[in-house]
This record gives sequence, C-alpha cells and structure tokens, in this order.
Amino acid sequence: MSYWNPYLDTLDRQELSRIELSYFRTIFSYAKEHTRLYHDKLKGIDPASIRSLEDVKKLPLTDKMELREYQEMAPHPYGGILGRDIEEVTAFRQTSGTTGKPVYVPETYESWQWRIEAWCHIMYMAGFRPRHRIFLPFGYNVYVAFWEGHYAAEKLGCELVPGGALDTKGRIHKIIETRATAMMNTPTYGLHIAEEATNMGIDPKSLGIERMLCAGEPMPEATRKKLEGLYGCHVFDHIGGTEPCAWAGMCEVKEGLHLIEPFFLVEILDRETLQREVEEGEIGVAVVTPLGRRSFPLIRFNTKDLVRKSKGSCACGRTSQKISEVMGRIDDLRKIRGVLFSPKTVEEIIRKEFPQVEEFEIVVERRGLMDVVMLRAELTPAVPVGSIDPVREQLKESLKIGTNLSFHVIIEPPGSLPRYQLKGKRFKDMREGQRND
Ligand SMILES: [Zn+2]
Repeated sequence: MSYWNPYLDTLDRQELSRIELSYFRTIFSYAKEHTRLYHDKLKGIDPASIRSLEDVKKLPLTDKMELREYQEMAPHPYGGILGRDIEEVTAFRQTSGTTGKPVYVPETYESWQWRIEAWCHIMYMAGFRPRHRIFLPFGYNVYVAFWEGHYAAEKLGCELVPGGALDTKGRIHKIIETRATAMMNTPTYGLHIAEEATNMGIDPKSLGIERMLCAGEPMPEATRKKLEGLYGCHVFDHIGGTEPCAWAGMCEVKEGLHLIEPFFLVEILDRETLQREVEEGEIGVAVVTPLGRRSFPLIRFNTKDLVRKSKGSCACGRTSQKISEVMGRIDDLRKIRGVLFSPKTVEEIIRKEFPQVEEFEIVVERRGLMDVVMLRAELTPAVPVGSIDPVREQLKESLKIGTNLSFHVIIEPPGSLPRYQLKGKRFKDMREGQRND
C-alpha cells in the first residue's frame, strides 16, 4: 500500500489527536487575533483553557449566516472573515449562493497551497497517479472545487484536460480525442455523459475511463456502483465544501470515507443538540475546523452535512477516522406526513432496483390538509409499453417499503424531465415555507 504522506497517513491515533488539539489551539488564537468575526465571537475565551478535544465541544459553532453578516464590513468583499492582509489575497472564490447571498472566500498563495495539499490526499487515496490523463468536464468559474482538483492533479503529476466551454457531445469527443483515462465530475453529470454517449452510439466503457472521482452531491452506493458498471471503471466519492475545503475521501477499499487528518478537526455531533459526539454507527452533523488555513480561518464550522460515523480501522492501513456514509444536507431532510424523509433514499432505491429508470424527480405538495408525495419517472426507451404499468406498481411498492410513504408514481415520456449539467435538483418541495435549493 502506498500513501501520499506515509507519516501522517499511518500515524498513531493518539498522536493524531494530540497534533489536532495543538493545531486547533493555534488556529483558534490566530482567528481571534486576526479576524473581526472571531475577535467578537470568542471574546473572553482564553485559548489556554482548551486543554482537550472535549473542551473544544464547549466552544461556539460558526454558521454561514455569520460569515455573510461579517462580510458586509470593510475591506470589500471579504470584510470581517479575512485573516490576512487584503494585499496578500491571490484568488477570489465564492460559494454558489443557492441558499442566499454567496460567501466570498479569500485565498492567499499560502492558504491555497494548504487546500491543494489536502486535496492531494483525496486524489492519491482514490488511486490517481502520474500516468493518468484526467478530463475535467466543467468550466471552473469562481467555484472552488474544480480549481482545487485541477491544481491537486498537477501537484500529483497527473495530466489535466480542462473541458469547460464545450457541450456534452463536445466533451465526449474530447475524451476520445485525448484518450483521457480518468474524470472528476458530479455523479449526476457522470450519468448524463454515459446517457449522451449511448445516444451517440458510443458505449461509455469504450471511452477508456479507468478512474472517476465524484463530488458535489451525496452519492448513494447504488449510484456509485451504477457509474462503475456504465464506464467499467473505479468510482470514488469525497465530501467537502467551499468554506471548509474537502475534508474526507474514499480510499481504494471503497468502504466509506477517511477524514483528512490532521488537516481538519471533524466532529460529528448529535443533530438535535449539536453538543454530543455521536457513537460509531450513528448519524450526526459534521462540524469542521480547517486546521491550517489563515486567510479565512473557520472555527467549528457547521457544514450541515449529515454523515454516519464509522469504525476507526481500514484495510488500507490509514489510521484516520472514517465515516461510512454521507446522508445529505440536513436542510434536505423533511417531515412528510409525520415521517422523516431523505431524498437520497429514493435515489438509492431507484439506482439499485430500477435500471430502467433513466431520470426522476420527487415532488411534494400540500393538497388541502394532506401532503402528497409524487415520483415522476422517465423510463429508458427500451421499456415496452406493456411493461410500464408493472414498473409503476413495483416503484410504488419499493418506495413504500424504503421510505414508509405512499408515493403517486407518474411515468413521464422519454426526454421530458430536466437533465443537469452540474448537480441534480431532483427534489422539489412545493409546500409553503419550504426552500428548494
Ligand atoms: Zn482506507
């Protein structure tokens, strides 16, 4: 087994915790001293009082709203979240802004190198090596993830083919033309490229993609396996965000994700109280502190990502903690007719049991006093008309078993549901007061 950083990747757990506590105290003091946000927020808290990782749990969390609020101050556009002199900033990035005003992220050369190094861990763990020619099928714009992928690929010694400013057909031709052997994309777009290639009479397996790193949306295991089957390749997941950076990735054992330690202190907290660290096997909210970034320090950032904590050890020999599953955003969890519902469960069922479903959409509406939940599904053209009714009935039954909710299933004509270039928006809650981001 080889590691990106053999020392850190196999470090004794106690030693990792010791380093993380020490880094935490350093970044805590730094943030307090150099940013307006933490100067105000951490007033009266003495860094010397943080003696253990348990003490960290008593400190306040940071959420996106506060970042937006402090950003309104000078200097434009970063305001009170900036941790370095504005003249040292070398790159502007931002969040997508789907949940409100975007957060602007200042990167200095130093902080950017820190992010890239964390990303190298993710890519190396997923088996990316200098022999790979990676096709990145997006324009990067002001969004951080693909820039990170691009620079980390370079640092690893891979060859990177940027695939922005092309349509999907153009990208498929570029993959063939360059004989790319790897890809980095959202699961949604991976499926879309495969569908489009098939429509062009090209078997996605013949594209020669050997390895794929996915990000951007929760990927059920069944979707990961579906992508592996379509391309005949290895598919890996990772999780991160614009503010904290990418903080966990999948190794070649493909059982859950490793936290990137000691770059991040990741706490997985009980979602009701946000105080107690959950036990192994339990679901909690990930709270992340990037431990080495000074341009934009974050202390205990509430990612609102729901993850399941896993056992510590892994056959790959890495000693970092693992999460077994990414459940999705806490904002995506909804109460429907009193039942807690996660759209990811529906995707898991469809990708696992219904290969004939090409695309789908979940719609929740309130009719009178009742919540009505619908699945609009599009079947592959190969499904004969006579099989449509049985598929509809099977979908109803599987969804009832999997979610405890009775769905209205509507079969839509081929090609009628929207296709997505980046992230899928397959869940629409039309009830009053619900956000659809
Ligand atoms: Zn592993």
